[in-house]
Amino acid sequence: MSDSRNIISFFYTLRDPEGRVLDLASPEEPIVYLEGSGMIIEGLAAALAGLEPGTKKRIEVPAADGYGERDPEQVRRIARSVLPIEGELKVGDQFRTAEDQAAPIVTVMEISGEEVLLDANHPLAGVDLTFDVEVLTVRVATAAEIEHGHVHAAGDHCQN
Ligand code: ZN
Repeated sequence: MSDSRNIISFFYTLRDPEGRVLDLASPEEPIVYLEGSGMIIEGLAAALAGLEPGTKKRIEVPAADGYGERDPEQVRRIARSVLPIEGELKVGDQFRTAEDQAAPIVTVMEISGEEVLLDANHPLAGVDLTFDVEVLTVRVATAAEIEHGHVHAAGDHCQN
């Protein structure tokens, strides 16, 4: 096994099973992805491996290989007063449970009196995903990029 890894730039449109567009990356602002960095979901990463530049592909990612199945344990009723949110709260609101960017995003399902029903499942949990992808460029990652776990700009410059 070689530990060579690629940097793949691509753009995509992501749709749910009803055909609604959930997310997209344009050709002008593609995703630039280091293989093995965990930056994109597993099912998409596996399907992109080995594709040539210019390849257009429809990639179907079942929920389990995307954002996971919905977990009923992640739906909880808690007191409104413990939430880090000032002001009005309404059904459908989404917010992070802490300042940390890695903190889970929760969705308000229901408000009854002083209690709020929160869903901490990822908003795309349980959703089968369809990506229409086009690969722009593929190049071998540099040793520094693999060591740092992220993509560098031209000339192997690290911006971090
Ligand atoms: Zn770096």
